[in-house]
Formats: sequence, structure tokens, C-alpha cells
Amino acid sequence: MTAAAAARSILLQLHEVMASRKHAQAKLNQVAEIIGETLDSEVCSIYLLREGMLELFATRGLNQSAVHVTKLGVGEGLTGTIAQNIETLNLAEAATHPEFQYRPETGEERFHSFAGVPIVRRERAIGVLTVQHTDPRRYEEVEIEALQTVAMVLAELIHNAGLADEEDAATAAQAQSGQQVLQGLQLVKGLAIGKAVFHQPRITIEQTVAEDIEAERQRVYLAFDKMREQIDQMTNQAEFGLDGEHQQVLETYKMFAYDEGWSRRINEAIDSGLTAEAAIERVQQRTRMRMREIQDPLLQDRMHDLEDLSNRLLRIVSGQLGTAASVGLRGDSVLIAKNLGPAELLEYDKRRLRGVVLEEGSLTAHVVIVARAMGVPVLGRVRNARGLIHEGDTLLLDGDAATLTVRPIQTVLDTFETRVERSRQRQAAYAQLRDVEPFTRDGQRIEVMMNAGLRDDLPMLSLTGADGIGLFRTEFQFLVSATLPQRDRQTRLYRDVLDAAGDKPVIFRTVDIGGDKSLAYLSSDTSREDENPAMGWRALRLALEREGLLKIQARALMEASAGRSLNVMFPMVSEPWEFDAAKAVFDKQLEFLKRTRHTLPEAIRYGVMLEVPSLAEMLDLLIPKVSFISVGTNDLTQFLFAADRANPKLAERYDWVSPAILRFLRRVVTATVGQPVQLGVCGEMGGRRLEALALLGIGVRRLSITPAAVGPIKELVRKVDTAEIEETMTAWLAAPPRNMREALREWAEEREIEIE
Ligand code: PEP
Ligand code: MG
Repeated sequence: MTAAAAARSILLQLHEVMASRKHAQAKLNQVAEIIGETLDSEVCSIYLLREGMLELFATRGLNQSAVHVTKLGVGEGLTGTIAQNIETLNLAEAATHPEFQYRPETGEERFHSFAGVPIVRRERAIGVLTVQHTDPRRYEEVEIEALQTVAMVLAELIHNAGLADEEDAATAAQAQSGQQVLQGLQLVKGLAIGKAVFHQPRITIEQTVAEDIEAERQRVYLAFDKMREQIDQMTNQAEFGLDGEHQQVLETYKMFAYDEGWSRRINEAIDSGLTAEAAIERVQQRTRMRMREIQDPLLQDRMHDLEDLSNRLLRIVSGQLGTAASVGLRGDSVLIAKNLGPAELLEYDKRRLRGVVLEEGSLTAHVVIVARAMGVPVLGRVRNARGLIHEGDTLLLDGDAATLTVRPIQTVLDTFETRVERSRQRQAAYAQLRDVEPFTRDGQRIEVMMNAGLRDDLPMLSLTGADGIGLFRTEFQFLVSATLPQRDRQTRLYRDVLDAAGDKPVIFRTVDIGGDKSLAYLSSDTSREDENPAMGWRALRLALEREGLLKIQARALMEASAGRSLNVMFPMVSEPWEFDAAKAVFDKQLEFLKRTRHTLPEAIRYGVMLEVPSLAEMLDLLIPKVSFISVGTNDLTQFLFAADRANPKLAERYDWVSPAILRFLRRVVTATVGQPVQLGVCGEMGGRRLEALALLGIGVRRLSITPAAVGPIKELVRKVDTAEIEETMTAWLAAPPRNMREALREWAEEREIEIE
């Protein structure tokens, strides 16, 4: 008999049992009979995990008086070992196994051969299915396969009947670990308490036994087609993965996706009577078990890829395509994901999203910028977070110490709650600075503006008392829309922004799409064959080519600021002519509005982002053309260091306060001193106290930063004497200290200026 035929014969009978109206206990008794009969085994037993112990729940062949009496701990005896390791055992002579334990009440001494498989639900053992035989012979591979398939169906039956404590299963399996502290990289500061929510929830398999095998086969066939299509599309767009290894990753994906062996095994599982979902999961389980035996880190990595693909296939076939955002967050939540796009993050309910944990991530990735603007702490580079954390676990995210405590014990939880409360009080203290103007000790007025991108950010302007919006990222509206935002929608948003700002200035940056801000509805354009999207066809480069996009935005901005002043800034200007070309698009729109007698903006001021190093060499030619320049240190540093800002491996490599950056920035400041142009810094760097101190030291007097940093930076400004830090920085940039960060820290400490 083939494995499929053996399993199928059992499943057919099980199908009837499961559909019957009998009590769960009676059903399990019958299941034990059927399996024993079909596999020609004297004994078949079902153990279920209840209150942390594996309880003999049904048996054919062992003493019936042992049912509900014999109980084994997880890890105890052969059955306990199977549950603990989630592994299959197949022994000709049970007593020879080191973990063997004899239970006299069962009367099992007569039996020699033993085989057992775990009953798994959500990757945890909730029970064990065993067979025993008087002959000392190993069970055949086909029989083991059949047992494993049956165990899947049993898992469904047990779950539906609520027989095993599934949460207990988790606790029992984790008993040794309990509280666990994971290390990561601080991406957004702050503290958070919440329940773990997976961005991509685990798929729940509703039905394991197929009604119609042909129909299941067809479903899998179509799902494979769709999955391969998606993978091909990724390969063609080359936008998958940003870590430079994407080529290799893609090739492996493609190899797996087209692997005949994989699809054949799934089809065989369907032949045995499983539904498409159960068959995919069954094959995945088998691969997982096999991989566990091979301790090769390289292969384990590949295993992740295969898991990803298998989940993708499962999602397609089951139609469970949504993320946790589409289901909605229930309470205070900490989101767990491998990585996220900015748009994906924005789909979550801000009031309940307390924190984000990523397996990847880097400081200036846009998802992190968005999280920072939302005031949500983010911990990145937490290795295997999705493996170590379970949905619903309580998590303490400490962005400051860059740690994540999983399933904290009570005292740790209590202490953490006290810290959260203290941090809330500190925030309240910053709020007190709202109406205080940020003058330095030597009387310099520093402009502290905020960055924004969405309507939701606007209340922060009055809450923080920022001097205005120094960077309004207009592309965020594009990122959160399913389709290209039409002109009237753009106009409405810009008008709302200006209304909220009142007398305070707002600098609108024209769309900066591309890089890590790719748009599905523009993706065939934005990522077209871009090997390196950050240096590719993005921002103004794209806008100048798709002039319609910029034209519409120009009109929307001008109409929104009718009778008021408008500040427009162009991103990624690399040479002055690009500024001219972009401004010409605006001039043309202004002409049109004049001709058609629209109310015009009272004044329009133009400026550029300085984020491509080449522009710094052209400042003498650029300055006469513009009213302001804003340094985008996020992009600028990635280009200066040739280090992709989204690459997690480079996230900690280069320092914002390294002499190379500070010297570069000081040259830019010097070039603008005494010139009719305003200079500011709008990268993330300005929102960190130590970095801001360095910027003040090289003469920067305008910062535009994330709203949450406005209070802390105002407080810093009031403690600094600019003449003093300038003198120090001049000396340090001439002869840099070995560690600039350390030097700044000590300097601040001596003056009792808090910089962390
Ligand atoms: C920058 O590059 O520093 C910047 C402020 O713009 P963005 O982060 O949106 O690219
Ligand atoms: Mg930029």
C-alpha cells in the first residue's frame, strides 16, 4: 500500500467519525480503533496535553483503566519526548531508547515496537498519537506518513472539541523559557507595553479532510500558478529585498516556487484525502521536521524562504490575504513583522498601536520615519522575532535600552509600568515648553520646526509649539492611497495644512516617490529595472519625466494657498538645472491661473532639498535662484558614505556625528552665511539631542524634526551656549577626537546638559 492509499483509507473512515454526532471521547475511541486496525497494530493510543501533562485520552490495546489516569510530563518518556521535540519516533524495540519509561498500569510490557507522532496545532504539540506492536519491527515509512497525516486531522478534531488546552501547550513548551529578553537595535526611542500582534497573522486551517479531491487538486494548481506569477513579477521588478543579496534570495525563491518535488508532495498529500490547505501545511511540517535534524545554518536560512513561500501559497489558496490591519487591533498592541512598508504601517489604528518590532529595519527607512512621526517606538533587527514570540504574548518594548521582554514576570512588568508613567510625566514637562521660545543661553533664536506628512500630524503643530512645518512630505498622501490622489483631494489636504498652520510657515516638498517609497499604482514606472532604487528613478527625476504629476501638484498647491504664501521645495535636486526645470513647471501653472483670473498665492518662495552631494559643489550658482535650502541628512549621508539607508546590515556602521559629515555640512553652512538664503536641516539627525548639539556647533540655526522631538530639542537649545560649542566644534573638526560621539557626550555632561 502507498502512503497516500493508507492515509486515504484511514481518512475516509475518519471523515465519517468526525461528521457523526457522537461525543468527542467516543470519537477518539473510534479513531484509535480505526488506526490500529488499518495499520495492523495491537495498540493505538491518543495522548492529549491537558494542564501541562500528556494524558492518555483514548486507547486500543492498552488497559482501559489507564485512560485519564496515565499522565506524562512534556519531555517525560517516549511520548513526552515526541511532544517536547515535536518529532516522530519509530523504534523496533522501545525499551532500548534512553528516554523509555515503563508505566505498569497500561500493561504495555508485551509490546516491543513503538512509533509516535506529535499532534500539532499552530506549530505546537497539543498531543501525541502512538502505535505499538508485539513484533519487534520498525514501522514502514508509508505507515509513519499515514500516521502524520492522521495526526493533522486529529488536531482539527481536538481543537474543535476544545479537548486540549492550547494555551497551556504553549506555556508547557515554553516552560523552560518563560520570560525572555531579546536584543535589537533602537530605531525609534520610547517605551511600550502591549500584546504581540503579527502583521501577517498565522493562517488557520478550517478543514483538513477533503470533500472532493479533484477540486482540491485544482485549487492548489491555481494557487501555484498565482504564486509563481507573483514571484516572476518580483524578479522582473527587482524591487524585492533591499539588502544587496536580493538577487540570490530571489533566485532561491524562484527555485522553490518552481520546484516540482514540492508541488508533487503537496499533490500526494491531497491524494491521501487532505484539503489543499492541510496538504500544504502537512508538507511544510514534514520539511520542518527534516530540517530540524540538519543543523546547517545555511540550510536553515533557506528554510525561512521556504516557510515564506509556503505561507504565501497557503494565503493564496485560503483567500486569507489580509494583514492584521485589516482585522483591526483589539487592545494595546505591539506589531511584529519581518519588515514593513510605510503605507502598511499607516493602516494601523494609531490609538492602539503601541510599538513595532521588526526583524529587519534601519534608522532612516521610511517606515521608521513614519513610526517616529506617529510617536510609536520601534525596535529593529530582533533576530527570529516571529519564531520566539507568540501571538498574544505580553511584550515590553524598551526602545531606549533596545530590548524586548517577552512574557515578563510580574515584578518586571510592574517596574516597567512605573517607567512608562515617569516617561509620560516627562512628556508632559516638554509640553510645558510649548509656548517657550527656543533661545540659546547666549540669546540666539533657533528655529525648531516639525516634519509632517498627513492630516493626522497637524494637531502636533499646536501641541508642540513648533515654529512651523519645515518639511511636509506630500508623498505620504500618495502612499496611503490605493490610487493616485486626484487634484481636488490634494488641494483639500494642502488647504487643511495651511489652515492648521495659521501664521506659521509650511514648506511643502513635492512628491518624493521611489526608493523605499514605491507605489503599487506607479510601480511599473517607479521601480522599472532599478537595481538600486534609492539612487534610481525617484523624486524630482520621476516628477520631471512624468510632468503631469508635478503639474497637478503645482496647481493643487497654488489653489490651496490662494491669498496666502506658499513655500515649495524640490527633493533630490542634483544639479541646478533640475531646479530650473521644476520651477518652470510651476511658473507655467501660475501663468495659467493668472490668465484664468484665479486668486493667486500672495507670494511663492522656492527652495531645494540638499541631499545629493553634487549639489553642494554648485551652491554659488544655486543660491541666487532659491529662497531656502533644507539639508536632508537621511539621503545625504547614504550618498556620502555610499551606504544604503534601508540596508539593515549598515544601520549602525556610520555615525551622523562623524567628522566627514560634520565637515561637509559646515562647508554648506559657510557657503550660505551672509547670503539671502535660509538654511535648515530636516533629516532625522536633527531630532536627536547629541546630533542637534553638533549641528548647533557648526552654525545650523534652523531644524525641522519629528514632532515628538520638538520638546526635547527646545529644552536642549535653552541650555546651550552657541559660541562655546562652535569654538569647540571648530577645534574638533580641525583635529577630530578619536570618538566624536564620546567627546560630545563628555562636553555635554560637564555642562550638565542631558543629551540621551
Ligand atoms: C532626507 O532625506 O533627509 C529627508 C528629510 O527626506 P526623506 O527622509 O523623506 O527622504
Ligand atoms: Mg530624502
